[in-house]
Formats: sequence, structure tokens, C-alpha cells
Amino acid sequence: MEILPPSFHRRVRYDRVYVADSPNGRGLFTSAALGSNRAVGRVYGQKKPSGWRSEYCMEFAGGALEPDPPYRFINHSCDPNCILIEWELSRGEETQRSNEPIYEMWLHTLRPVKKGEELTIDYGWEAEASIRCNCRSPKCRGWICRIDDLPRCLEMHKDDIPNGR
Ligand SMILES: [Zn+2]
Repeated sequence: MEILPPSFHRRVRYDRVYVADSPNGRGLFTSAALGSNRAVGRVYGQKKPSGWRSEYCMEFAGGALEPDPPYRFINHSCDPNCILIEWELSRGEETQRSNEPIYEMWLHTLRPVKKGEELTIDYGWEAEASIRCNCRSPKCRGWICRIDDLPRCLEMHKDDIPNGR
């Protein structure tokens, strides 16, 4: 999958998204149909130290990002239509040595989405952080958990009440 850096997308209008009620609290929706591998918008927020934990935080630039609305409301799906991509940008040859790299977080589509469709990502949480999933996808793993950590997740939850929440 070829994904173009943000500079390429600067001419494109962004943030064709809105926040609305979803089956899982509030969610992020698109107000326009979008193609596959398209930048939806840049995720702004506060940078936090590594190990920062909150309901919304994302791994970012060696630490974490506490995202501002609207992107803080993006829900998990086990079969997501979007992905978060962290870009490391340089300011150019001459100034690069005296400047820290610039990091940007962007939301991109993984497949075409229809107008009004909820945008979702795979949260990719570790087994220790896993909670029951209600994404309603036919591919639902049952837990919000990284796919490669799922065996450990299922082992940890094997004595849980079936479908308990
Ligand atoms: Zn699921």
C-alpha cells in the first residue's frame, strides 16, 4: 500500500468528519465519501510522556498523544476502515541538524468509505489492557486486543462470564 506523506496532501481539503452517537458511545463519522489510502485529517493533541494512560491516548513519537476532538472520538473495530500513521518530517537539509524532527499523526483510510460511515481504527491494545469488544464486525475478536496478543488475552479472560461486560 502506497501512502503519500502529508506534504503531498496539503492542497486537499481535510476534516470531512463529524462526531455523532454510535453503538459505542460517541464516534467519528465522515461527511463525504472517501477513497482508499486517503488522508482524512491530521490528529492534533497534547504530547504526553511514554507510559501515559488515558481512555483516548495514542502512542506517538516515543511517547503518547492525547488527541483533541474530533479524532479523540474514533472507535475501535476489529475490521477497521482507517489507520493512524505517524510521520516523521524534517525541516529540510540546511536546518535539519539544529532541529528536532517534527512528528505528525494522521488518519488515513484503508478502504473506500461511504458518506456517513463511522470511521474506525484497530486500537491494538495489549492483553493487559483488553476489554470486551462491541464492534459488530463479522471479524470481531471478542476483545479489544492486538491480534498477535489475542491468545494471551483469551487465556487471561478464560474464567470470565461468557458475554459478560
Ligand atoms: Zn470487535
